[in-house]
Amino acid sequence: MSAPLAERAAALDSEHAATDLRSRFRLPAGVVYLDGNSLGALPAGVPEAVADVVQRQWGTGLVSSWNDAGWWDTPARVGDRIGRLVGAAEGQVVCTDSTTVNLYKCVVAVARMRPGRRVVLTDPASFPTDLYVTEAAARDAGLVVERVTPSGAPARIAEVGEDLVLAAYSSVDYRTGELWDLPGITRAAHAVGGLACWDLCHSAGVLDVGLDKHGADLAVGCGYKYLNGGPGAPAFLYVARRHQDGFDQPLSGWNGHATPFAMAPEYEPAPGISRARVGTPPLLSMLALDAALTVYDDVTVTDLRARSLSLTGFFLECLDELVPDIEPATPRDPTRRGSQVSLRHPDAYGVVQALIARDVVGDFREPDVVRLGFAPMYLTHADVLHAAEQLKAVLDAGEQGRPEFTTRSTVT
Ligand SMILES: *Cc1c(COP(=O)(O)O)cnc(C)c1O
Repeated sequence: MSAPLAERAAALDSEHAATDLRSRFRLPAGVVYLDGNSLGALPAGVPEAVADVVQRQWGTGLVSSWNDAGWWDTPARVGDRIGRLVGAAEGQVVCTDSTTVNLYKCVVAVARMRPGRRVVLTDPASFPTDLYVTEAAARDAGLVVERVTPSGAPARIAEVGEDLVLAAYSSVDYRTGELWDLPGITRAAHAVGGLACWDLCHSAGVLDVGLDKHGADLAVGCGYKYLNGGPGAPAFLYVARRHQDGFDQPLSGWNGHATPFAMAPEYEPAPGISRARVGTPPLLSMLALDAALTVYDDVTVTDLRARSLSLTGFFLECLDELVPDIEPATPRDPTRRGSQVSLRHPDAYGVVQALIARDVVGDFREPDVVRLGFAPMYLTHADVLHAAEQLKAVLDAGEQGRPEFTTRSTVT
């Protein structure tokens, strides 16, 4: 029954051979890794690059590496590398802090750019840290947060009108993988004189975000998901050039100062995107991310997006044939799909653990979601079919109910 699927997988893999970049990664043999949207895999060049940073730049160069190895400018340089992946011209992205912290900076900065306005819209289904920190920033800046779904956002934005400060949304829903309308929500916010801030955690590196093209104002995102920067890699922040002079972010730190080594007693923000920096960056992590980004050097996000859609589309096909009873939570329409396929199942946690025992690694998200991320560079259509076959085997045998698969770990 799955012979035709195997043939399809082989045909699709040869069609997409040019974007099969698995050899650029160190992945354990036999593992189908469907969690690159939680922690990206290890790019092959990273261990050596990090060893060089530790041994030569730090060990031998010592403090002079701040100049000689270009440490001071790393946030801007890595920011520009990420900018190329999200459609931002140079000088608008900086690598800094975490997504959570960057979102806080953006919300408060926008409140200061739009004095007198009060309302921030955000998605009730946002990744929780986005909700928490948007609420916290709103409280600190005297704003109110309204939770409105992305599909309802344009209409609500029009109603809020001149009271709108900011629409803060994710480009791809972390749980369902739905791709939201970044251009449309951005236009709606602009039409009433507000701004839009986009969380790109689940889109950076796998789809054409087109920040400049769509007139985006602000964006934030992670370095450790599809950008493969390693656990806890620093995040990034985009401020469109036209907003940079007015970007008065609340965490005034010496790394964002116009003349940090003047050691001036008063804060004066740096010109350009550097004012989004705060304190001394974690260079070991940031240079690991820098080295990881090399895997993107000679490939376009457009080509990776084509591969990603082919992989997720084929996975949906495999599910229809092998496990037709399970209904994907991810839209089938490719224009509304990020780079993941999520499935709802009452024993989702057990399903994920049973799959991991079979070397198919995904993750569980509350309340009932089996979340499978498709990092296009290191997955093949043959892997996708294998994952669907393993899912069928798990469900056929009812493995998800076994006690060893239902005990929760701290990280799910
Ligand atoms: C992964 C993720 C985060 C994580 O934020 P950190 O500050 O890195 O912990 C935030 N928002 C979204 C939408 C995410 O997917």
